[in-house]
Amino acid sequence: MVAESYLKNGRLPRWAHGTCKTLIGAKMYDFEPKRVKQFFRRHDVGRVAIQLPAGLRRYLPEIIPTYKESGVETLVLADSCYGGCDVADVVARQLGCDALVHYGHADMGLPTCLPTLYVEARMTVNPLEAVEGALPKLRFKRVGLATTVQHIGHLKKVAEFLRSRGFRPYIGEPGQRAKYPGQILGCDSGCVRSIADRVDGFIYIGTGRFHPLGIALSTGKDIVIANPVAGYSEELHWNPDVFLSRRRAMISRAAACEKFAVVVSTKLGQLRFKLATIVADGFRGAGLVAHVLAVDEVVPEGLADFDVDAFVCAACPRIPIDEADRFDRPILTPFEAMVMLGKANFGPYKLDEVRQNDF
Ligand code: SF4
Repeated sequence: MVAESYLKNGRLPRWAHGTCKTLIGAKMYDFEPKRVKQFFRRHDVGRVAIQLPAGLRRYLPEIIPTYKESGVETLVLADSCYGGCDVADVVARQLGCDALVHYGHADMGLPTCLPTLYVEARMTVNPLEAVEGALPKLRFKRVGLATTVQHIGHLKKVAEFLRSRGFRPYIGEPGQRAKYPGQILGCDSGCVRSIADRVDGFIYIGTGRFHPLGIALSTGKDIVIANPVAGYSEELHWNPDVFLSRRRAMISRAAACEKFAVVVSTKLGQLRFKLATIVADGFRGAGLVAHVLAVDEVVPEGLADFDVDAFVCAACPRIPIDEADRFDRPILTPFEAMVMLGKANFGPYKLDEVRQNDF
């Protein structure tokens, strides 16, 4: 749970502290200084904005010499940055920058108003030790592989290793928002869905449970997590019935409500305005009150003062799933809103993912 703890909130799980101190000293991430300098030269950059997710902010002293050596003026953007969906090109332009360097995520093809370089911050640690440790936990031979961009460069090597041990590994094609085969995002499980009918289970190379839960929800398969940083592996124990009964309960609570807010985010890759409009029209057509609200971050504090009974999140799809407990009112996905309105069936449950025609 190390890389994601770093990337999402800058904190390490307590059990990983010793391991990570060593790795930090040994350059944990590749910040691609040569490529950054080439980008400056190519675009004749005078002033550049740097955007970092929380977990990479402590690496600023390692990153900044590249900028100094290039003689560019730098501005570090300190607002939240959760994913490749969250590109601060407009803010950078307001600040008079000629370019933006966005760290920690892959380019998802969003149109930006400034030249933007994505430095993926790939992790240097070799995952094979963790994968070898995971082998006794694999009760299946046909294995799907999935990971985040931090470990994507190692995926073919993992597949070769598994093949040498008698397994049949599969790497799925990227979905609508991912850049690489085998790359999973919280809002795009396309790579695992594309191979779900050919495998009996998955190995997730990475840290945390955020993505393994996404794989489980979208495929219903067994998942083994191989954590390359801690050299640790575990099976994901997940009960779909518990998840589904929670979501059913959420829909039932919302069904008793009359006033709804359908929330989009102004973050470039979370502004699913078309989808929000369809959902809001659905509520209005059913005689209910619906407003479309646009916020930067979908957090309870930002929505608290609105006189509505329930929310639908048309921003990041994972908010209603992972953060529902933070909200004092029901919060649904757009799919669940359609179920509530009688326009879709609850089963088979559809995990919300971002699609091009949502915008
Ligand atoms: S929309 Fe959510 S899951 Fe997708 S990249 Fe952004 S923060 Fe991650």
